[in-house]
Amino acid sequence: MAENRYPVLEIDLRKLEHNLREIMARSAASGIQTAGVVKGFTAWPEIARVYERCGCAYLASSRIEQLKRLREAGIQTPLMLLRIPMLSELDDVARTADISLQSEPEVLRRLDAAVESVLTGRCGDNADRRHKVILMADLGDLREGFWNRQELIDTAMEIERDLPHLELAGVGTNLTCFGSVKATPEKMRELLEIASQVEKAVGRKLRYVCGGASSSLHMVLDGTMPAGVNLLRLGESVLLGDFLGCEMDFTYKDVFTLKAEVIEVKDKPSYPVGELTADAFGRTRQYEDRGIRRRALAAMGLVDYGNYTDIRPRMNGVEVIGASSDHTILDVEAVKDRIRVGDVLDFDISYASMVYLTNTESVRREYLKEDC
Ligand SMILES: *Cc1c(COP(=O)(O)O)cnc(C)c1O
Repeated sequence: MAENRYPVLEIDLRKLEHNLREIMARSAASGIQTAGVVKGFTAWPEIARVYERCGCAYLASSRIEQLKRLREAGIQTPLMLLRIPMLSELDDVARTADISLQSEPEVLRRLDAAVESVLTGRCGDNADRRHKVILMADLGDLREGFWNRQELIDTAMEIERDLPHLELAGVGTNLTCFGSVKATPEKMRELLEIASQVEKAVGRKLRYVCGGASSSLHMVLDGTMPAGVNLLRLGESVLLGDFLGCEMDFTYKDVFTLKAEVIEVKDKPSYPVGELTADAFGRTRQYEDRGIRRRALAAMGLVDYGNYTDIRPRMNGVEVIGASSDHTILDVEAVKDRIRVGDVLDFDISYASMVYLTNTESVRREYLKEDC
């Protein structure tokens, strides 16, 4: 297929590296290491190498197959599995991931056995090959994690005493994902309290207190992160250079650019003509009658980016008014003399659309790499 085909997702690796270095430097100044979360871009190795070059403590994904591909691509940085593992993938976890987030005693027992069987037949010092685990505490967001504190502490004790192929590396939490619960200094202090209870029970310091994701970064930036939290798992804030509640005037917001080609430009009514039923996805929609308008069709659609409210035209005066699987409908009345068939239009993308755009063969990738 022709190598100039559209749509294209263009990734400016230089801008990404800038964002990552700036965020990591601010985190390091507060004693916090970074796990670079790569699931947002489906762990494309060309992008993941930027994280490796910047010295992330871990590369992290919720999907074990993405971690596997990173290893196969020659990535050396230790790998973190973010989603509580399925029993059915523990062999892969033992083989591929260096550290994982955990909340089920049964999974931990079976993982210990899986690590042992992977190690059998390997020579060398097996003590270094222990799989690290971070026990997750649910602090109210109600996704993963122990709800009962005593169960978490008992599980920590069991790992320490009875599961020799696992290393209890620390405790962690996840906020803002399901319950929309804000990451606050109070929540971090709650996590630190749990960490100190675990440390008392096992009689040693824990390596990590993992204070969450991008939604915890605002505390690093405004100096309110309680001392003792020493690892964050950062995805969106690095990739978009932006996050709700963060003051980030030191980042690029345009690491990713979606480029699509215009295939039709015509004056058309803005209100459909005929009897209305449902759209291509079975939904009934509202349409605003704004009279005859100049409209452009771009050759990309929901299959490429998910939701049309998640892409934003860079050119002022271009408005996304809808989409079907393979078409995006743009109102270009305000810039009608500047849009022609064959033009390529640039769009900003959201984190949600990034996941779709990097998961499909129909979107070509292009990397910008020149040095700063
Ligand atoms: C996806 C994920 C992250 C990263 O979240 P961002 O908001 O992109 O920083 C961190 N931790 C877990 C458990 C995740 O699943």
